[in-house]
Amino acid sequence: MKIIICFPPLNSEKGCPTLGQNRQFQYFKEPTLIYPVVPAIAATLLKQNGFDVVWLDCLAQNITQEDFFAMVKEQTPDIIAFETKAPVIKKEWEIVNRLKKENPKLLTAFFGDHVTALPQESFEHSGIDYVLTGGDYDFLLLNLCKHLQDPQGISLEGGIWMRKGEAAESTGDFTLEHNLDMLPFIDRDLTCWKDYAYKNGNYRRTPGTYIMSGRDCWWGKCTFCSWPQLYPKFRARSVKNVLDEIQHLVETFHVREIMDDTGTFSVGAWLKEFCEGMIERGLNKKVTLDCNMRFGAVDFEGYKLMRKAGFRFLLFGVESANQATLDRIKKDLTVEVIKKSCKEAREAGLYPHITIMFGYPWETLEEANNTFDLGAWLLKKGYAYTMQSTVVIPYPRTPLFVECEEKGWLTTGSWDDFDMKRPVMKLGFSESEIPKLVQKLYRVSFSLEFIFRKILSIREIDDIKYFWRAFLKVIGHILDFKRNKPKKRL
Ligand code: SF4
Repeated sequence: MKIIICFPPLNSEKGCPTLGQNRQFQYFKEPTLIYPVVPAIAATLLKQNGFDVVWLDCLAQNITQEDFFAMVKEQTPDIIAFETKAPVIKKEWEIVNRLKKENPKLLTAFFGDHVTALPQESFEHSGIDYVLTGGDYDFLLLNLCKHLQDPQGISLEGGIWMRKGEAAESTGDFTLEHNLDMLPFIDRDLTCWKDYAYKNGNYRRTPGTYIMSGRDCWWGKCTFCSWPQLYPKFRARSVKNVLDEIQHLVETFHVREIMDDTGTFSVGAWLKEFCEGMIERGLNKKVTLDCNMRFGAVDFEGYKLMRKAGFRFLLFGVESANQATLDRIKKDLTVEVIKKSCKEAREAGLYPHITIMFGYPWETLEEANNTFDLGAWLLKKGYAYTMQSTVVIPYPRTPLFVECEEKGWLTTGSWDDFDMKRPVMKLGFSESEIPKLVQKLYRVSFSLEFIFRKILSIREIDDIKYFWRAFLKVIGHILDFKRNKPKKRL
């Protein structure tokens, strides 16, 4: 049986969609290619179980729509599986419909956060055959393919939706009982890892790649975040298993930087054992590590140990400088903790990257400006090293989306608009202020104070290359938000 795991061609005049492995979807003029870890594990698992697997990421490989349809025809797969997200779901429905028209026998499957939230919708709007819900869609896709091969011998696990005539039915709720240590290390060649090894603004050193040491966030409560819907329960791989994979990546692929894209990296005893293992194996001298982290989850001593273990880039969600907002979105943070923890991480030699969001329906323009001030202060002081500024988007089924429905906050009914180009929730001020705030924050990168600190931090040629890539990204982000004139809402 032949399976294509696919990101179809979805480029538009808005830019390149950051779809794979993406919690917060954005179109980028200057694309960042994020290695899609769970689909890559799915491909590896299938190959290991004797299936014929084709990896077809049209976004990373710049494949046009017509070439894509020709390639699918040529490959003659039995099943084609796509990761989806709200802003591209309509385009993916169209693609599935054309594929099914050209070959009615071809089976198609969706997975991802949007279809987990709204599994039936895709059956109503497209000819899709299966929807895999929950975050363990690597295990589910293997289960589905084995079942298709041997319907009597292999029963379907919970979480799979399938077409039954005009309707859809499911095998029940998905479970997250799979043992992550049983997964094979990703077959990087099969999944074209080099396509993603350079074009990523977060890497200081290349080639870089991604792993996931856990699924997905041990906090998992932020009301805007869609990934807790995929992974309502947190599981971490064993420290040994993760260290073995890092060693394999260094020794086999000569990877110089690894981003762990677990929603929030494990802390406490797990983190200590992991850092000590990196040091004992000497991996801290060979590879740089990056991860997602929460402010206040690690103290100064912990940050120092992380630095010693090879960590560099830590991505932290600031989200807002207003306590009422932080409480409301369940960040469980105070502004004081944000400032202290960010400063300590930097003083320990780490490079905090902060994410900031604008467009909360309850915030005034003055409050949004408080957030700008905090972001600008952290950057100018050098406590935060880099940043990403975005628009809050309530993805389906998240607590924020539910609140939007209850309070009538949504200004659009079209998923295409959930692409972070502009707010989709009613604001207490003009929506034209949002791109101005985002751009203003990116422009902090051009302040003398910021540039001076960056020059002082240069240690080697990789730093200069990194700053050049980061500079291009900042220009790209300013352009991403420049061309968005607010349009009339419903
Ligand atoms: S900390 Fe919040 S935003 Fe980040 S992954 Fe966890 S739940 Fe999502």
